[in-house]
Amino acid sequence: MSLIVQKFGGTSVGSVERISHVAERIIEAKNEGKDVVVVVSAMGNSTDSLVDMAKQLSQHPPDRELDMLLASGEQISMSLLAMALVSKGYPAVSLTGWQAGIMTESVHTKARIVRIDTDRIVNLVNKGIIVIVAGFQGITEDGEVTTLGRGGSDTTSVALAASMKADMCEIYTDVSGVYSADPRVVPTVRKLVRISFDEMLELATLGAAVLHSRAVECAKKNNVRLMVRSSFTNEAGTIIEGDVDMEEKVVCGVTHKNNIVKITIKRFDALASLFSILVKSHIDVDMITQCSNESLTDVSFTISIADLGCTLDLLKANKTRLAFEEIVTEVGLAKVSIVGAGLVSNPEAAAKVFTALAAEYIAIKMVSNSEMKVSCIIPESITERAVRTLHSVFGFDVQQMAGAVH
Ligand code: ADP
Ligand code: ASP
Ligand code: MG
Repeated sequence: MSLIVQKFGGTSVGSVERISHVAERIIEAKNEGKDVVVVVSAMGNSTDSLVDMAKQLSQHPPDRELDMLLASGEQISMSLLAMALVSKGYPAVSLTGWQAGIMTESVHTKARIVRIDTDRIVNLVNKGIIVIVAGFQGITEDGEVTTLGRGGSDTTSVALAASMKADMCEIYTDVSGVYSADPRVVPTVRKLVRISFDEMLELATLGAAVLHSRAVECAKKNNVRLMVRSSFTNEAGTIIEGDVDMEEKVVCGVTHKNNIVKITIKRFDALASLFSILVKSHIDVDMITQCSNESLTDVSFTISIADLGCTLDLLKANKTRLAFEEIVTEVGLAKVSIVGAGLVSNPEAAAKVFTALAAEYIAIKMVSNSEMKVSCIIPESITERAVRTLHSVFGFDVQQMAGAVH
């Protein structure tokens, strides 16, 4: 019998009515003769509300306690969904991350899944029971509850699909697929019918929140076919699978990420030590530029604002070892990027980005490019204008659809 994993995001399970609707969707798949394992997110914005409560009590809540708190959100939606299914006559059981055997590394708030002991799920599925697993959470070897980082339920579902060798992992969300840009920012977006793992990984890493980047990484590694689709309509979604199709367009989308901070460390000579200190503390360092003058260096790098407090604390604690003169912090930045497998053979695309942003008087503060992307750090206040400009310049706007994207 074929097995599918279906994941329903926060908006899809945002109310009891929505949960009942989701149950119908699962029943449809079950009635088609499929075995179904379901992963759910917390209802609506409830994870944000939990974070807000924690912040009202403490500026820096302990990560362990944050994980204990945030893991509670998914426990509500999973049990309600199981109740809805049972009331409709379909046997269902909900499992927390630890009951489902989701083992993670010992890092709070952004743990990686190391393996899934699927025995319990497999036993239930073999009895014809629909299993609902809480997304976003797991447990360490020491029995500590962990979470996988915001948006991490996608990763739970792909990791489960990989471990159970499911035929497909369907990600149900509030948009009907992956688009050429965030539809909340660009009204004229186009839906992508198919996209390769590599392009999706680049889009997700650079800010396309529709999929957690670790979920795409796991799908690519284990060759799990994904479909992103809406839980609100029956439209076909976007398939994410396989390799890049070189016949495809040069650029597949424009994406952006807000809440970026640029840190410049002035006049020091301990570059290697600096980055090992940051990596050891799981700080995700993004763009790095270095400017050397005789033996001393100025280095700038970007991080997410969520890591700012911890980064500054680490730098101050290691001031003697790093022997720097000054730290300058610039907040209120964003990163806007174009992504596409064809960029490797089209270096003129970067020039096109810079020209388009300059024509809009958008100041570029840092640039980074690779085979599949061109990214620019810009002021956050004008991100949306920058995204719309690039979306239009690269020919994605639906009204200019005819022909290829150059
Ligand atoms: P869920 O709660 O279902 O996990 P998310 O809010 O995490 O949903 O992800 C869906 C959102 O991702 C959409 O509402 C959309 O605004 C945003 N998004 C950003 N970039 C893209 C893109 N390229 N294509 C589709 N959606 C995108
Ligand atoms: N509930 C978590 C969050 O809001 C995980 C998820 O939705 O994927 O980030
Ligand atoms: Mg999400």
